Amino acid sequence: MLLDLSKVLLQDGKALETSVELEMNELVFQMGKFSIARKSPLQVAVTNTGDRVLEIRGHGEVMLLIPCARCLTPVEYPMVLDFERTADMKLSEEEREERLEETNFMEGEQLNPEVLVRNELLINWPIRVLCKDDCKGICSRCGANLNVTACNCDTEQADPRMAAIRDIFSKYKEV
Ligand SMILES: [Zn+2]
Ligand SMILES: [Zn+2]
Repeated sequence: MLLDLSKVLLQDGKALETSVELEMNELVFQMGKFSIARKSPLQVAVTNTGDRVLEIRGHGEVMLLIPCARCLTPVEYPMVLDFERTADMKLSEEEREERLEETNFMEGEQLNPEVLVRNELLINWPIRVLCKDDCKGICSRCGANLNVTACNCDTEQADPRMAAIRDIFSKYKEV
């Protein structure tokens, strides 16, 4: 849903406070496709600070599902949104986009909260999410989730032929 700010723009000092329901159910970008488990409405406060400049503050919470970096189990990852943006309405949309170095969240005199939130999630995207600190990950040979089940890959290495190959390798290592 777009938020019409034309009335706020009419008068310096004019402000608008509201809450908007977010429509997004997933987030798709170069890191992949991530589901949004739940989200709070976005609290938005907009102030016309004069000279056709809008100050926009937002607050909300989005619960994302991000796969564990080791075992790929989806992990609930809360993202608290708390941000401030300025939109200089004297600039063209292209100029604003360049200056902000992010996707323009204004469509004419209407604010697109989905774009605003998407930008914020991307800026704060975590480097790595783990289901637990000591996640054992998945076996690189058989793909078993080692948190759930032990696999037989280690014991298979007791195979005498494998052991012979390992001996050769370890001899090389010692040299
Ligand atoms: Zn894990
Ligand atoms: Zn295995």
